[in-house]
Amino acid sequence: MKCNKCGTVNKSTATHCKKCHIRFIRQSDKIARKVILSPRIAMVCGCFLLILGAILLSNDIDAFATVTCITGAALLAIGVLSS
Ligand SMILES: [Zn+2]
Repeated sequence: MKCNKCGTVNKSTATHCKKCHIRFIRQSDKIARKVILSPRIAMVCGCFLLILGAILLSNDIDAFATVTCITGAALLAIGVLSS
């Protein structure tokens, strides 16, 4: 990996430049973080909707509770499958 600041050639696994000590930002790190983050959000939202649906079901609000449960389960499935 070639340093963008001083042009020194470093090891491909290096996280910092050996000469000027600037930190290398890898594009793959950014993408990996995004991929990891979104399934978690989907899972958290899915769990929340499932709990909300269960509460609504216990309060006899059937139609809305069913929709909430299905949406929650779908989000949870997306989160689990893509994680
Ligand atoms: Zn450098």
